[in-house]
Amino acid sequence: MPNITYGKRRNQRRVIDLYRNPILLIILGSLLPTILLLTISYFQSIADARASLATLVNTATSEADKLLRDADQILHRLKVDLDQADQKTAASLLQRQIYSDFRFREAGIFNSKGLLTATSLGIVDPPEPVSFTKSGFDPNNPNLQILGPGRSQVMQERSVALTLLGSKSIRGIYLLVDPVILTYFLEVTPDPNLGADGFITIMTRDQRILNTANASSQTVFDQLLNPSPEQIQITQTTDDGNITIVGQINRKWALRHWFKELAIIAPITCLISGLLTHIFIRQVQRSAVLDYELKLGLAQNEFELHYQPIVDLKTRRCVGAEALIRWHHPQQGMIYPGLFIPIAEQTGFIIPMTEWIIKKVIQDRASLDAKFHNLYTSINLSPSHLDTGDVNQIIQTLEAADDPYSLNIVFEITENKLIENWETAAQDAIARLKQRGIRFAIDDFGTGYSNISYLQIFDADYLKLDQIFVKGIAQDHGSRQIVDSLIDLSNKLGLATIAEGIETEAQFHYLLERGVRYGQGWLFSRPLLLEDFQKFIQEHQSD
Ligand code: C2E
Ligand code: MG
Ligand code: MG
Repeated sequence: MPNITYGKRRNQRRVIDLYRNPILLIILGSLLPTILLLTISYFQSIADARASLATLVNTATSEADKLLRDADQILHRLKVDLDQADQKTAASLLQRQIYSDFRFREAGIFNSKGLLTATSLGIVDPPEPVSFTKSGFDPNNPNLQILGPGRSQVMQERSVALTLLGSKSIRGIYLLVDPVILTYFLEVTPDPNLGADGFITIMTRDQRILNTANASSQTVFDQLLNPSPEQIQITQTTDDGNITIVGQINRKWALRHWFKELAIIAPITCLISGLLTHIFIRQVQRSAVLDYELKLGLAQNEFELHYQPIVDLKTRRCVGAEALIRWHHPQQGMIYPGLFIPIAEQTGFIIPMTEWIIKKVIQDRASLDAKFHNLYTSINLSPSHLDTGDVNQIIQTLEAADDPYSLNIVFEITENKLIENWETAAQDAIARLKQRGIRFAIDDFGTGYSNISYLQIFDADYLKLDQIFVKGIAQDHGSRQIVDSLIDLSNKLGLATIAEGIETEAQFHYLLERGVRYGQGWLFSRPLLLEDFQKFIQEHQSD
């Protein structure tokens, strides 16, 4: 046994710190969050671009909706007035309406022959014919027409004509709107966010472009015809379905936006990476130190075994005990297995540790009064032990004992960790252990994989009902049903059930009534040092 003092222990720690090369962890700790944050922020930029575009398209659509509603109101009012008015009064009525709202360019009245008889500027005498765009009136869309350049005042520029009267002939009252009006808010304050990568276009239902903000009509036309996957597109129509607003933005915009955001994200990423790396390294160092201290602890004899009696529930007599390891750390005091077993399993320390436990159990049994040699001892065997197939060592240790065949040992295998390498040496080793009369118990049953095949592979003799279910007995009907079905399963499989963690008389009676054979828990005894265990059995077994 090496003679290492605790002063040396501290020096050795430094060696471990240097020895453990954390480069991989630094890469992991910094690279992963960086990639993660960059990816998230990139998709966020795309989402921002989409949201920006959606806001513009929404605004344009609601502006267009409002305009159409207002026009509709005016046209209705005019129609009522004009029905009684002469041409002169009609012209002045039109004029009043037009001047009261800046959005309407002009208004015109067409007679039944489709001739323009009056505009907001006065009477057209004699009535004039008006030329429309080549598609003229659209029978599908009688309330929205595009007027092309013409001779009259009304027709001097390309306009959208809004009319009340749906008719094939050009007849009725028209309000003319400059298409720019539909996007004027975009024209007035061209969206600096869109830059050269996006545009908004206003189209009729039959897809004629009325106006475009932020790009030439040709570009828009090309892009609408051949939309590239690079483009994000959002389309909306007005409530009446007459006007369609299309917004497009290139992903390049999002990319540029993203680069700008990186200036803010990068320092945050660095901070998080640094923090994670620090945590990783601390974790590795802690495991390394703990691993080292565990080895040292074994060499320094800092471990001890406690025995928790297992009793026959009918007689309350002790039938065996579970060996539970404890670590008396010179500085930190008593450390429970829940804290160091996971590290021992990771580092492989579990192998020498279990070997020590088995030797200690054999030694302790020898020192027990001979009349108690029929009591069995339960030893927890970690699944990682079986995974490595390193069970030969256990067999050798058992065989090296004076009386290997009457060792009366039960190995407890927890089912809350999966044993993966079933096809390897593990199964042979289990068979060899069984040949030597070793029995198996499935520990913590119901908390893990509820792997029925475990029961077959180990040809298990006992099923240990986890204490969580025993606690549940007092709680609710649902928990009791689970307990009942686990006990039922165990009985049907012909296994003896051991209930763990019995703390109250109520739990004890409940389990007893359901035919549970054995029990373990604070109600009977806490885990005890060997001498105390000896006293316990002397007191409880004396006939
Ligand atoms: P386990 O094998 O299920 O052991 C039962 C645990 O329940 C023990 O905790 C025991 O002290 C505790 N216990 C017993 N009766 C009661 C009770 O009435 N109420 C409550 N609340 N707890 C009770 P311990 O000793 O802290 O061990 C925890 C786990 O660590 C064990 O669970 C086992 O999986 C593992 N372990 C303990 N000793 C060893 C060992 O020597 N080798 C290996 N591989 N694992 C061990
Ligand atoms: Mg156990
Ligand atoms: Mg258990």
